[in-house]
Amino acid sequence: MGDYVTVSVDVPVNVRGDVQEQFSELQRTNKHFTVLCQQNGGCMGCCGHDFLSKEKINEAIRMNTAEFAETRPNTTQEYVRFRDRNAASDLRHGVCRNLVKLEEGIGCPLHPARHKGEDLREGHCDIHYLCDTAKAFATWDVTKQDEFLQFIAARKLDNITYSILMDSGGLWNEFRLKRRGALQGMR
Ligand code: SF4
Ligand code: SF4
Repeated sequence: MGDYVTVSVDVPVNVRGDVQEQFSELQRTNKHFTVLCQQNGGCMGCCGHDFLSKEKINEAIRMNTAEFAETRPNTTQEYVRFRDRNAASDLRHGVCRNLVKLEEGIGCPLHPARHKGEDLREGHCDIHYLCDTAKAFATWDVTKQDEFLQFIAARKLDNITYSILMDSGGLWNEFRLKRRGALQGMR
């Protein structure tokens, strides 16, 4: 699969206030991590590609979850067996077959937070991948990052729509246009 990152499952649902409390400036983003992955209940934007539609993504997650429930992995070996039941490149409607609905929301059951730090995603997807929006976010100052987090919160998107828009860069683009308009209005 190559270039997907996690849907983090170890951080509670985020609103901007929570993010500010939970993450210091330096913890917001780095080369391998960004708080953007945890906005709107979690982003799954890079757990697949060529998404067909929101409905198809939901269907894929529903089917993955049914397989996960049927398999009921408990030990590391069982999780690895679940992970390897299909090749990493064998996506379902463009969605990674490991992406499931967990108690805390949509997430990856292979995440290290669920395995005492052992990362079972290694070798299956690129755990250090960041989308272009996240890469850009990492270069912004705190004020601009705050604006973007507020902008995201104000959109009140469901997490699949949020994921699609993060993956496509659509939200970043909207933010850019809004900001440009606001700046021009000030002139
Ligand atoms: S293995 Fe997990 S983190 Fe990696 S692409 Fe699949 S669902 Fe996402
Ligand atoms: S698409 Fe971007 S924000 Fe979403 S999980 Fe991937 S890196 Fe994180």
